[in-house]
Amino acid sequence: MSVRRKTRKVIVGDKLHGFVGIGGDAPVALQTMTSTYTYDIDATVAQINALHRAGADLVRVAVPDKRDTAALKEILNQVRVPLIADVHFHFERALEAIEAGIHKIRLNPGNIKDRPKVEKVIAACRERKIPIRVGANEGGIVERQDKSQRAEEKAALEKDYRGHMTAIMVEKLEEYLRIFADNDFYDVVLSAKSVDPQIVLSAYSEISRRFDYPLHLGVTHAGPPETGRIRSVVALGALLAQGIGDTIRISYAADPVYEVEDGKELLQVLGLRLRTEPELIACPTCGRIEIDLISMMAEVRKRLAEIPVPVKVAVMGCVVNGPGEAEGSDVAVFAGKHRGVIYVQGEQVATVTEDQMLDRLFEEVRKFASKVERGEAQLRNQKVEIKPPDPIGELGSGWEKIRQEKGTPLPVLR
Ligand code: SF4
Repeated sequence: MSVRRKTRKVIVGDKLHGFVGIGGDAPVALQTMTSTYTYDIDATVAQINALHRAGADLVRVAVPDKRDTAALKEILNQVRVPLIADVHFHFERALEAIEAGIHKIRLNPGNIKDRPKVEKVIAACRERKIPIRVGANEGGIVERQDKSQRAEEKAALEKDYRGHMTAIMVEKLEEYLRIFADNDFYDVVLSAKSVDPQIVLSAYSEISRRFDYPLHLGVTHAGPPETGRIRSVVALGALLAQGIGDTIRISYAADPVYEVEDGKELLQVLGLRLRTEPELIACPTCGRIEIDLISMMAEVRKRLAEIPVPVKVAVMGCVVNGPGEAEGSDVAVFAGKHRGVIYVQGEQVATVTEDQMLDRLFEEVRKFASKVERGEAQLRNQKVEIKPPDPIGELGSGWEKIRQEKGTPLPVLR
């Protein structure tokens, strides 16, 4: 992982809803957006609370209509996470949301273009110390009204779509930001989303070179989780690994709780967020498998959801590669010949038959989790080494090679 890019920092929130930093020394914040009609107060509050419980640091709501901004005050009374108002076309919605106590505004340079209107929003945000995200989405910034301009843009885009689109997004941001700089307003977060991960990568790389504002990363309109997951994670993961990005939102055409779950997992595997739930590692199975590991896995996942500490559990299909691959897990089961050997932090605690495996595994997981809660055991503190049964053979072990090379570890991706 590269060192995080240095940016300005904005603070979102208040005493009642908590404060979340974006950029600077703040950890990468995870956000999502509700899919309810904001004017439906009960449904919106229920969804915001579910998203907050799932791990969202910030939640954005759409305010297309006056009745949506009219609902904000009551929604804010009933939730305890900072909220962002997503404003398109009507700058008045931003002013109403600010009046209602919203914590951050998102403006789209593609559809709120008039300087006096933007300046009114800036003035209101300055008064309440509210940051603004300037979000130039690919779909929202191409000229749509002027026919001749549209034809000209279309012709250019046909030649090098990605290159031109990246340039348009960056230029639009630069142009819009001049209004903010002229008004001496720097509480700004930037985004430049596209459905195309390659445009996302190039746009954010360029923006990070040009500006020191914090960045909100996202791949927009990514589709359902099944297809949107890869395009989102490949772009966001690559940027975060390069130290680019201060808040993320994964967008799915599904219950937004999936956005939060996947965003959390992405930040956790990159070491950008502390893991709070159990972690499951499992072998992909192969021709050596002698139990029904795939069905067992679904049950393990379900039962792990009830375990309150971030215990690492490994479920491996055999004793050939399993032990080596499961090293570092807190509780592990290695299956073979319709039996399973269970280890707790490297110590063998039981050998059971296939039908007893799941229950015994969870007996050990629960026992271990309780010990962690009581402070009698530590996570990832393997006391006994699990020795893989494979003979080292004439090629020797990996460690042997490292010793011969004078123990120099290779650099991790920069
Ligand atoms: S742990 Fe064993 S069964 Fe599972 S993939 Fe590795 S070798 Fe195959």
